[in-house]
Amino acid sequence: MAFRDGDGWVECICGVRHWGKHGAAGILLLRDNQVLMQHRAEWVQNGGTWGIPGGACDSHESSLEGALREAHEEVGISAEEISVIRIEREAHGDWFYDTVIAHALDNCHPFAANDESQELQWINREDVAQMNLHPSFARNWEKLRANLPN
Ligand SMILES: [Zn+2]
Repeated sequence: MAFRDGDGWVECICGVRHWGKHGAAGILLLRDNQVLMQHRAEWVQNGGTWGIPGGACDSHESSLEGALREAHEEVGISAEEISVIRIEREAHGDWFYDTVIAHALDNCHPFAANDESQELQWINREDVAQMNLHPSFARNWEKLRANLPN
């Protein structure tokens, strides 16, 4: 496994401690009116909440590369299984979280590929806000949702 230099905390200007020394990224995967949600394992940060697959980017990675690597580790998908629509950045000074918004292609079959997920579910967009969301994802969701393609 390649050396991972992105793992670590950043004390952000927003007053929150974020995971990912070189920023972080995740994939918001769309299928019809649904999004792929990950029920996070109890042992990870904000365990038991729901969010999207993703994590820290390494210094040599683009946010797309980082998000794809994390998605492969966590939910078993690869670049050939998705069609990227765009990347939406939440910028906090030097730190960022990039959400890769992508369509799941017909050959895309995510599964809980490592122990960071309890389960995965396709959730209707209108039901996401009522879930017990990871606080960072909860902060971004309404803005993300408002700009999603139909
Ligand atoms: Zn911040």
